[in-house]
Amino acid sequence: MQTNLADLVKDTREGKEADAILRTCVHCGFCLATCPTYQLLDDELDSPRGRIYLMKEVLEGRVATQRTQLHLDRCLTCRACETACPSGVRYGKLIDICRNVVEKQVERSVKTKIVRYTLRQILPNLNVFMVFLRIGQAVRSLLPKEIRGLIPSKSRNAGIWPPARHKRKMLVLDGCVQPSIAPNINTATARILDKIGISLIKVEKENCCGAISYHLNAQQEGLDYMRHNIDAWWPYCDNNVAHGVEAIVMTASGCGVTVKEYGNYLINDPIYSEKAVRISELTKDISEILEDEAEQLIPLFSNVESCTKRSKLAFHSPCTLQHGLQINGVVENILTTAGFDLIFVRDSHICCGSAGTYSILQPKLSKQLLRNKIKILESDKPDQIVTANIGCLAHLQSGTSLIIKHWIEVLDEKLHNH
Ligand code: SF4
Ligand code: SF4
Repeated sequence: MQTNLADLVKDTREGKEADAILRTCVHCGFCLATCPTYQLLDDELDSPRGRIYLMKEVLEGRVATQRTQLHLDRCLTCRACETACPSGVRYGKLIDICRNVVEKQVERSVKTKIVRYTLRQILPNLNVFMVFLRIGQAVRSLLPKEIRGLIPSKSRNAGIWPPARHKRKMLVLDGCVQPSIAPNINTATARILDKIGISLIKVEKENCCGAISYHLNAQQEGLDYMRHNIDAWWPYCDNNVAHGVEAIVMTASGCGVTVKEYGNYLINDPIYSEKAVRISELTKDISEILEDEAEQLIPLFSNVESCTKRSKLAFHSPCTLQHGLQINGVVENILTTAGFDLIFVRDSHICCGSAGTYSILQPKLSKQLLRNKIKILESDKPDQIVTANIGCLAHLQSGTSLIIKHWIEVLDEKLHNH
């Protein structure tokens, strides 16, 4: 694609990066069929190719309008288009850059500004979120059905976190929303890793990975969250320390895709850039860890297999796992090896509509995607539905009476309850 970027962005790092990305698009349209919003709205401007044209126009100097902003807001940033694109267009990076430019040109309504600001104050702050969650749970039955669905009736029991007794150690990101809604996810991870000789540890001072603020166009705030986490983790990650960890484990793929990119996000930061690269190198999704530890893991399940009933699972692979981290088939292999039967999930590349804060900011489209996804996941009558990201877990739960779990929870149950 030919480009002629405007002076306002031409010489900036972001402008150069956006220019390089735009030039890789050859307008072939292969991405259209995989785009959830194009499928629902049948409008080229709600497709990846259409949005790329819109972004090109803005970067070439055409002033963005509310319609431009609307089409960009409707994008889930699911990155299914990246997986489908034969030219390697880095759409996710492009829209990050362009949303920031559009945000400066188009004033949002006061109501929208308040909602977006409130989300940034509540969701990334564990203690604040916990207070709001408890209040929501107390008055849940009085709330409108749409809001009630988003609030779990009770938080799950975390169970025991094993003491750090092994020489091999890994850190885990506890995150912001996950410990309030489903603390069992990380304790289950700690129990499984403990069984294969790895102690999982968490540090007190970490916070949100930064994704929520960053994707709500408060990019500096998002970067501050990232710097804060680097400071919290660094004493365990510096190559020179004796008590260093082997990896930083992510149990929410939405956070994982962000932390793996810390090196990129902070590339221009003179103080944090090198540390950020090291943090990204150490970061692994829990499925990658267990895949690497297969030799220790498989014997555990061989013993369990003969004395438990095989249960039928539907696995919803989050967009951040399959398109963001490009981890495909790994969770499925682990679950099958552990003795679960997996049902085939049609259109598994399509987003469930959760997409960070999308379910709150674009409720109509999000609900349509949720209904479609639940229908597919339930079609073959699974015993349980499992996923790999807390946002998808909470969102899917609002659309079904089946209990939605993280896949690591069912693995842990199988190991410890037989
Ligand atoms: S598939 Fe890739 S190259 Fe083709 S239109 Fe979509 S983004 Fe552009
Ligand atoms: S990120 Fe997802 S919603 Fe956005 S254009 Fe790409 S496929 Fe469509």
